[in-house]
Amino acid sequence: MEERWLQTLIDGLHSRYAGVHKGEVANYIPELGKASPDHFGMAIATSDGKVFETGNSDTLFTLQSVSKPFAFGMALEAFGEEKVARHVGVEPSGDSFNSIELEKVTNRPFNPMVNAGAITVTALLYQKYGDQALDRILTRLSAAAGRNLGIDEEVYHSESKTGHRNRAIAYLLLNFDMVPEEVEPALDLYFKQCSILVNTRDLAIMSATLCNLGKNPVTGEEVFDLDAVRNMLSIMFTCGMYDYSGEWAYRVGVPAKSGVSGAVMAVVNRQLGIASYSPRLDAKGNSCRGINVCTDLAQELGLHTFDCM
Ligand code: GLU
Repeated sequence: MEERWLQTLIDGLHSRYAGVHKGEVANYIPELGKASPDHFGMAIATSDGKVFETGNSDTLFTLQSVSKPFAFGMALEAFGEEKVARHVGVEPSGDSFNSIELEKVTNRPFNPMVNAGAITVTALLYQKYGDQALDRILTRLSAAAGRNLGIDEEVYHSESKTGHRNRAIAYLLLNFDMVPEEVEPALDLYFKQCSILVNTRDLAIMSATLCNLGKNPVTGEEVFDLDAVRNMLSIMFTCGMYDYSGEWAYRVGVPAKSGVSGAVMAVVNRQLGIASYSPRLDAKGNSCRGINVCTDLAQELGLHTFDCM
């Protein structure tokens, strides 16, 4: 793909939407409410390791729910598909990310992209790795980004202090034996995992690691197994954009994950990792500008999975 052309394209998309001020910054985690509503960054990393960026692509933000597919991939590698499937399903819930609903017969969370499922996945990782779990997660996500990542202590403390709903979800999961006894340290790990700091460039490279079959195309490091990547992308395709996931699959047509910090990561299999950051969110919790730029990019580059049929 022509380099200058791609740079011009994202610069153009950035200026198309920088003046659109729709949406509100999330403030249910008080520290997130401090983000500047005007910040807007975009980046694209190709499967051959070229990176293009525009706007506030260096601004740091927390991953929030974008951490979920990565933790899911780690759990699949650590426990295998069968064991993970005993604890968490793979069906879209059609409900909001923080819904307290579980599946009717199995009592499993619907999928690992909603909070209930993500807390379950993180609790499994805590059970396996104990106090080493955060290091394991940081190491793996750093390998995907190609630089050492850390956590935002303020956001972590803010969520830990106010995350009563997630606490309620975790204890409900314990009631149904979906998570091990050590609920509090598992929740603490979940809050830390959500508070991992990245910039838009990092996120594009993490996304490109997934598009490149688990190998970071910039550093050349193998980060995730092929089977894990396939399952991560499948679940992102059906459940990654909150209760807009069906519409997203229809209109944009690539696996993606968003987070309440305003991050969106979209993966074009074997081609591109796309990332955007803009903390103005719509009613479903997705970044308004993130949806706009990915929708336009998909149309302009013909990225929809079924475009070539
Ligand atoms: N840490 C956030 C929470 O659990 C993540 C939510 C999100 O980004 O969807 O509420």
